[in-house]
Amino acid sequence: MSANLINGNEISKAVNAETAAEVAEIVAKYGIRPALAVILVGEDPASQVYVSRKDKKCAELGIRSEKIVLPADTSEAELLAIIAKLNADPSIHGILVQSPVPKQIDEQSVVLAIDPAKDVDCFHPANVGRMMLGDFSGFLPCTPWGVTVLLERSGIITRGRNAVVLGRSNIVGKPMAAMLAAKAPFGDATVTVCHSHTRDLTAITLQADIIVAALGIPRFLKGDQVKEGAVVIDVGINRIPDPTAKNGCRLVGDVDFDSVAEKASLITPVPGGVGPMTIAMLMKNTLRACRAALKTA
Ligand code: NAD
Repeated sequence: MSANLINGNEISKAVNAETAAEVAEIVAKYGIRPALAVILVGEDPASQVYVSRKDKKCAELGIRSEKIVLPADTSEAELLAIIAKLNADPSIHGILVQSPVPKQIDEQSVVLAIDPAKDVDCFHPANVGRMMLGDFSGFLPCTPWGVTVLLERSGIITRGRNAVVLGRSNIVGKPMAAMLAAKAPFGDATVTVCHSHTRDLTAITLQADIIVAALGIPRFLKGDQVKEGAVVIDVGINRIPDPTAKNGCRLVGDVDFDSVAEKASLITPVPGGVGPMTIAMLMKNTLRACRAALKTA
């Protein structure tokens, strides 16, 4: 079998168009523009790229974006003071601190400092807990949510199927597994989570109807580990050296695309798969934050 592509660029475009229409409706009806504050601490080049993409997407969809760039030696107290100000500002609906933060700042303190009502990354325990308990009406973790939308809009049925999630991180693997297992239209799968201590991973992946790879290991999953006809979602974003590329490197996923595409029925490319969905769902969370603020105003 030679896999068909799940086109994240196309699907995210449709999601973004829906968001833009809703934003326009809110502006017209209430005279309020959804607004997202994005904080970048330091000069990590990858983080700079992610932040400017989010900024650009906000502008495209009519969301106001407030980009706050802080020096790499910003103290935790300084950052928390800025977050407190944004928490108190009713014109800001979502707050995001780009990860990773410099090592003098404790990431968890940052997560806890953001008002859960403005936590558009869905990292705060209150929002993670709500989602784990089966309430999907609030914020949802952007990358796993993006994966569920890719699956749904590609017509893939998850109910009763075997799904294997590779990776158990707090931002991807764990919430991904929870969403796929949830009693929900995008869930009802039988989910196995594999991680760095999993034994005989191949025996598990060979049983999978759906595989979501989120390990951070370039081209980890190979074709001989995948069942004929499986659906494979590649969350990985890895920069590898490539002397033929202009900047000397290129992006690959956690899936060995060529060999896996021989076995899978559907597969996401990297780039152009999960990546654009993550930003699209961040925009959706910002919209949800604004709608919730309008209700409580
Ligand atoms: P992480 O480093 O926090 O977690 C990696 C996980 O992989 C861990 O839980 C670990 O147990 C597991 N793992 C490591 N080696 C393994 C092995 N041999 N077998 C099975 N499991 C193993 O990574 P993360 O933040 O979840 O990110 C994973 C990948 O997804 C990275 O490439 C990251 O860049 C990418 N990512 C992409 C997006 C996107 O929008 N597309 C968003 C977030 C992360």
